[in-house]
Amino acid sequence: MRKLLFVGLIVLVGLSLLEAQTTRNARHVVPTGKGWGMEVPHDIAPPIVITGNGINYHGGPVIKGTMKAYFIWYGNWTNGPHASDSQTTVNLLSSLFGSSGLNGSNYYRINTTYGDNSGNVSGNIVLAGSTTDSYSQGTGLSDSRVQSVVSSAISSGRLPKDTSAIYFVLTSSDVRETSGFCTRYCGWHTRASISGSDIKFSFVGNSDRCSSACEAQTVSPNGDSGADGMASVMAHEAEETDTDPDLNAWYDSGGAENADKCAWKFGPTTGTIGSGGYNQTLAGHNWLIQMNWENSRGGGCDKVLGGTFYTR
Ligand SMILES: [Zn+2]
Repeated sequence: MRKLLFVGLIVLVGLSLLEAQTTRNARHVVPTGKGWGMEVPHDIAPPIVITGNGINYHGGPVIKGTMKAYFIWYGNWTNGPHASDSQTTVNLLSSLFGSSGLNGSNYYRINTTYGDNSGNVSGNIVLAGSTTDSYSQGTGLSDSRVQSVVSSAISSGRLPKDTSAIYFVLTSSDVRETSGFCTRYCGWHTRASISGSDIKFSFVGNSDRCSSACEAQTVSPNGDSGADGMASVMAHEAEETDTDPDLNAWYDSGGAENADKCAWKFGPTTGTIGSGGYNQTLAGHNWLIQMNWENSRGGGCDKVLGGTFYTR
């Protein structure tokens, strides 16, 4: 398999800032004009945070306590053009974010090595609600239309407003994201002021739209390449949102957030990648989910908190 290069990609879209998981063959893009990186104000106490592990703290908050996840199933998740545009995918990804999935797992607790001045990330994440959106913004979504999807779900009361949550806009395979889904990224997260509150949200499209760019394998552990591909991207965006919700907390000198530093790196697997290999068992299913950067012991990518560091 070709050598894969993955790093964080900061994409400037209008005035909004977002952080993306690059596609598998993406060019290394070094962020420029990092004027958005907040300096720690001099008049507050130094952060009680752990540094020196290959990722830097920039003074902003992390999400503490259980981070709630909300899913917005956009498009056609009943019988879209790919087999994975299906209830099977909805069920699989809902289980991954259910209470026995990522939540409190030794994998997701890698995020507990990140904190801010008042505490650390909890390592807990639970799906707290979901809704559907049948193409209210059409089949071609700009970043601002993705935000509109989130905004309307909240303003209509279909989802509660929660500043400690991540709202996922999950698009079926017939939906384009015009700023670069499948060509530059497989997902991204950002924040915006919605209904007067600081709301964090993420776009992740059905990876079956572009399996060579956004899936590690098409023969996958759950026999649903779209769900299995999205699982790793969604975990990536969730852990970045937990540790860098406002894009001013944790990222390295190249602009890479924690999950960016381990994107498309899986460590040892049970079975072979390409033939349904997996490296995590959560919620009664096997998954191939990228490792995450642990902010301790010098820093490195591992599969579980305190586990062995792997470079690929
Ligand atoms: Zn990322």
